[in-house]
Amino acid sequence: MALPHSRPASRRWFAPRRSSELLPTAMELSSPEAKPVAVKGPVAELLHVSKLYGSGDTVVRALDDVCLTVERGDYLAVMGTSGSGKSTAMNILGCLDRPTSGYYRLNGVPVESLDDDALADLRNRELGFVFQQFHLLPQISALDNVMLPMIYAGVPPEERRERARQALERVGLAQRIDNRPNQLSGGQQQRVAVARAIINRPALLLADEPTGALDSRTTEEVLAIFDDLNRQGITILLVTHEQEVGDRARRVVHFRDGRLAG
Ligand code: ADP
Ligand code: MG
Repeated sequence: MALPHSRPASRRWFAPRRSSELLPTAMELSSPEAKPVAVKGPVAELLHVSKLYGSGDTVVRALDDVCLTVERGDYLAVMGTSGSGKSTAMNILGCLDRPTSGYYRLNGVPVESLDDDALADLRNRELGFVFQQFHLLPQISALDNVMLPMIYAGVPPEERRERARQALERVGLAQRIDNRPNQLSGGQQQRVAVARAIINRPALLLADEPTGALDSRTTEEVLAIFDDLNRQGITILLVTHEQEVGDRARRVVHFRDGRLAG
């Protein structure tokens, strides 16, 4: 593991001069156990990953010898029919599950070498998540929702508010920061969720059917945000079954029966 390199902490959120300024996340939030962050090489690499469920005659090979490299700055859409292994792959990429065999490197870190605590730490530091159903807390404002991950990451209170405000401005919601989720449209709620997902400057933004609950107009709102984020250097991997969503990515891969079919 040759990774030691980090820039000094930048107080500017989302006005990077260079996309590389978005990359060093952990050192900015440096906690005693924070590890150096890789700023070179792929963001994520699955190497001959298989995932088996069950055993004996009933074994299901949900992933079968999958190799996938996600380069820095990539925007990758994962497509495939139901049951083809997309969610299983996302769970592994998201450090929510481990491969049965094979290797996963996230920002240079060999995930299989980590215990569960270190894995959770890596997940919080390197990954942002967007889900189909937004998963915002209903009783608090958009601003407070976006501030939450920074509390867990130990960002000082005075910095949290300003960064959250800027992130919401970034997704076009500067006027709605005090609104609760039920005072926002679906597209606006998903934009709050995107702001929350990127607030700790993740190396990789993972989105599982992010437009699955949206109509075509609000789908467009969210896709425009993803386009914009990717132009700013954020690496995105999303799962979708909608061709129009896949078409927006730089690269599309298809799963079939647990295998990557190009
Ligand atoms: P997709 O997200 O593409 O619909 P999944 O990754 O959810 O596909 O599932 C891939 C295969 O693994 C399917 O055959 C599914 O039934 C099986 N599978 C997924 N999760 C489990 C589990 N927890 N236990 C047993 N089988 C599972
Ligand atoms: Mg699925």
